[in-house]
Amino acid sequence: MTTAATESREQTLAVLNGGDRFLVVTHEHPDGDALGSLLTMKMMLEQLDKDVTTFIAADDLPLSYEYSWLDVSQVVSELPADLDQRIVIFLDCGNTERSPIVEAEAPPKQVLNIDHHHDNTSFGGINHVVVDASSTAEIVWDLAHGLELPLTPEMAVALYVGLVTDTGRFMYPNTTAVSHAMATELVASGIDANLIYRRVYECLPEAKLHLFARALTNAERLLEGRLTLSILSSADFEQTAALSSHTEGIVDFLRAVDGTKVAALIRETSDDSGRSYRVSMRSSDGVIDVSKVARAGGGGGHAAAAGFSTELDGEALKAFLCEQITEQF
Ligand code: AMP
Ligand code: MN
Ligand code: MN
Repeated sequence: MTTAATESREQTLAVLNGGDRFLVVTHEHPDGDALGSLLTMKMMLEQLDKDVTTFIAADDLPLSYEYSWLDVSQVVSELPADLDQRIVIFLDCGNTERSPIVEAEAPPKQVLNIDHHHDNTSFGGINHVVVDASSTAEIVWDLAHGLELPLTPEMAVALYVGLVTDTGRFMYPNTTAVSHAMATELVASGIDANLIYRRVYECLPEAKLHLFARALTNAERLLEGRLTLSILSSADFEQTAALSSHTEGIVDFLRAVDGTKVAALIRETSDDSGRSYRVSMRSSDGVIDVSKVARAGGGGGHAAAAGFSTELDGEALKAFLCEQITEQF
């Protein structure tokens, strides 16, 4: 951990210990890390006897099938009225635009920003941003140790979900010895890791299978194969009865194609404002920093996994990606 992170860790522990009322939030369309971190932080604050409210926007509920078995019965979708008296903890959130709390009328009492995105905008009063942590769950796990809180089975499961999803089942380069040490502790505590794998990765709805088939059929190689991309139109979703969340995992498959430096899954998202596209990118061997491409497109993320939304149409969007990637070669 850097000196700055050691300092922010101390400050974070002091706020968690010293505060009374908290609101815990994460980014929109929460993934496994967002959910695991959120639920664990909630349980930690309860162990400390704090008044804690945990928030997920109504649009993001119910959770997608991978995570629908997690207990979110205590999570609310309305911001508490006493926000000005609460310390808001943002987890796994690189910037506040990715959180619905920006719509709140009164600013919170204090903002604690706990994250691992290297492009985190440091929007908090305290910013505990640990860029070499595989996941926010890994940071939350470290904080639980710092607070000397006992690890309950529910916490271990939630933390494992965050760890296993953000490390791509321990395959991504963000996976470190610390990540494995964390896994060791969680597995030793008695969780059923195989059951978690099966729930997260092997409960595919049939519609997702058909959506994958479309994505693979639509796959294109650009830049002599260095860019492998696929576009899913609204029609693809309608005809397969698949949900937007069913795209999870497709981009990783595209990245696996030999010669690919960048994989991109582009999906059409039509709303009141018209047609637009959501781009999900992965880089394969660290040559291309996809977060730079994402930032140029108005989004963000990690060097190896990033995304943005755009109003460019299909051809213009492909040209934009090719241009951005070529610039980095
Ligand atoms: P995804 O492709 O949706 O799995 O996103 C990959 C990563 O990119 C996420 O972990 C986020 O860190 C980041 N990301 C995706 N979309 C955005 C966005 N619009 N703004 C900032 N970061 C994003
Ligand atoms: Mn996340
Ligand atoms: Mn994360």
